Amino acid sequence: LRNSYRRERNLPCRTLDGHEVGLRANVATPADARAGLEAGADGVGLLRTELPFLESTRWPTELRHSTMLTPILRELTGRPVTVRTLDFADDKLPPFLAAGRQGERLGRGLPLMLAEPAAFADQFRAILSAAPVGTDLRIMIPMVASTGELRACRKLLNSAAEALGIEPPPLGVMIELVEAVERAGELAAESAFLSIGSNDLTCQVLELDRRDPAAAPEMAAHPFVLAAIARTVEAAHRHRRQVSVCGDAAAHPTVIPLLVGLGIDVLSVAPARVDEVRYRIRRLRRDECTRLAAEALECHTVQQVGQLVWARNQTIG
Ligand code: PEP
Ligand code: MG
Repeated sequence: LRNSYRRERNLPCRTLDGHEVGLRANVATPADARAGLEAGADGVGLLRTELPFLESTRWPTELRHSTMLTPILRELTGRPVTVRTLDFADDKLPPFLAAGRQGERLGRGLPLMLAEPAAFADQFRAILSAAPVGTDLRIMIPMVASTGELRACRKLLNSAAEALGIEPPPLGVMIELVEAVERAGELAAESAFLSIGSNDLTCQVLELDRRDPAAAPEMAAHPFVLAAIARTVEAAHRHRRQVSVCGDAAAHPTVIPLLVGLGIDVLSVAPARVDEVRYRIRRLRRDECTRLAAEALECHTVQQVGQLVWARNQTIG
């Protein structure tokens, strides 16, 4: 099967009825970037930047950021590449953030970054200066809950760009908190694109811990999660913004037809899954996926959705 997936590497990521779906890779290293492009991804939909710093004893400096980014971005010249700013979450905390200073509880995620504007500014400067000329660079902010946070990020990005004498790149927002879904319209109005972090969004909507084995990618097929995705897509498209899914659900056989049916524009997946996702999309019909997604939204449990998808033969073994 793996060989059948690979055989279609040079064919378009397009449904049987001619609907194109963007296919990008999630990367964190130069090897990931090479593997993603080799599998035919058109670029990178999520470059995770926190992973090399999970053992750090202090905030990464501008130099450490650019040492990490430069070799990855070099692989991606001329391709869309979406760099996500540091996402230190509960399940991804370096030692210097794990314990609160003097016993105080430090924030997590974006509030933490905004409480450390100097560290955040260092990363913005590093991203802007590490991107070679010709890079189709975009920057994406994780764990956004409000337009106020987005504006604070934009301010830091704009000052970094101004100091370097360049135009700031498009700034996008990850939709992975319930608050972000509720404000998806305002967030879309003030950003260049939306990207759904289905790993966190699924946990947030279903009140699961990220480390709970029940928080599997297929749980994104739960009608509550699908409703959150549908609402996000509607908000993005109302503002003529592209919307992607960059969590693991974007590569799950049950979820792919539902995402296509809900109108997701781009799927961003692990390099090793790029071939398979394209193969599956090439066997779907958009109009059938649209009907399927509408029916899934009417279901009550994730099991019902799973049965519905299987019954429709939308899943390819
Ligand atoms: C997500 O939450 O779906 C996501 C893509 O980000 P991460 O897995 O890094 O939290
Ligand atoms: Mg996330």
